Amino acid sequence: MAENQSLTSRVIKILRITNEPLSAHAISDVYRLNYKKVKTILAELEEDNLVYSLKTNRGKFYFLPDKYFKRKRDFLESDETPPYIWYEELSDLELATRKEKILEQIMKIKELFSEKEINGSDYFKKFQAKNEEISIINQILENRAKRRKRCYHCDNDLIVEKDNCSHCGKSHPVCPVCRRNIYGYEQTVRCPNCNVLAHATHMIEWLKCMGNCPNCRKRMIEDELIVEEERV
Ligand SMILES: [Zn+2]
Ligand SMILES: [Zn+2]
Ligand SMILES: [Zn+2]
Repeated sequence: MAENQSLTSRVIKILRITNEPLSAHAISDVYRLNYKKVKTILAELEEDNLVYSLKTNRGKFYFLPDKYFKRKRDFLESDETPPYIWYEELSDLELATRKEKILEQIMKIKELFSEKEINGSDYFKKFQAKNEEISIINQILENRAKRRKRCYHCDNDLIVEKDNCSHCGKSHPVCPVCRRNIYGYEQTVRCPNCNVLAHATHMIEWLKCMGNCPNCRKRMIEDELIVEEERV
């Protein structure tokens, strides 16, 4: 019992001094502690809400709640790219906020470059890092959206799959290329001539092969398509 108690305070101390969430493996490896005991202690601490965890595909990562909330606030504002696993924990809204923040940062970098306060290679490096961060966020949002099928018209979640939306009653648009329904999360384009709606990737592939609209047959190239705003 006494041994367990000292191990518990040891684990808490370790979490306090590190900035990143840690796995039970990392704690036991680095500090040479018994893995099974560390895991049990972390589970008990989590049950009492003294420790929180992030579930990732590499297992659970633990951290102290106060640290977490402070960090979450800090990193949403931060100029640095935070570790990937933190993103998974954020809500859609928080991710969107972060994305806006990054766009602001990109503008700043562009300004600094045009005022010659940073050189070309610094500008490029920073610009690339920011863009990478945005693509990570987009990927997460996209994956989440795919788990929820939404109506193209009203954006409500579709619980049962029918030809009509159970919220707005409208029928789902059908892609003229693949003949499947088009849902709210999908990237779409329209024909500038007949206005037909299609999955963006399908329409682009079609134009490459056929060179005309699958609906009205008017000849066109990809650049002429009307790209609809992505909804996440
Ligand atoms: Zn609807
Ligand atoms: Zn399609
Ligand atoms: Zn058309």
